[in-house]
Amino acid sequence: MAIAETVAGVRNTLRMKGVRIAAKIEPTTSLTCFYDNETGTVGVPSWQVIRSTAALHRTLVHECGHAFLYENNCAATPGFENLFGRLTSPYPKDHRLLWAAITPRQPAHVSSYAKAHPEEDFAETFTHVILGTRLRNVSPKLQKKIQFVHDAIAQHQAAA
Ligand SMILES: [Zn+2]
Repeated sequence: MAIAETVAGVRNTLRMKGVRIAAKIEPTTSLTCFYDNETGTVGVPSWQVIRSTAALHRTLVHECGHAFLYENNCAATPGFENLFGRLTSPYPKDHRLLWAAITPRQPAHVSSYAKAHPEEDFAETFTHVILGTRLRNVSPKLQKKIQFVHDAIAQHQAAA
């Protein structure tokens, strides 16, 4: 499937949840998907056409989560820092490794990648909310993060 179709599919998935992203989603020569908040661009590596569409779709929704965070300045919303932390402070590496070693399931985070950084935590929680992935174990804190993203989407609801 062509990148253009996958991108259109991602925009459609977001629109159905009332999310509009101003960021451009463009093919790039980068090796990984990324969001650049300076240029407002989500980059899709051209080689990724060979990946499964579902995997690329998920990754692009994740990157749009970064775009949503910056475009709506969600980090300035009361409660953000309490739940996700400060954007300028990555989660401590040691803590991350120790935590991962002790508990394979992280009920305070939606995924293991969400443990990397407050920004990734938000983008992964956003991806969960948009795609409705199943979670086996939801801690009260994770429930609050999920609610935070729901509220942010409702607050910045795009016109249908
Ligand atoms: Zn990310």
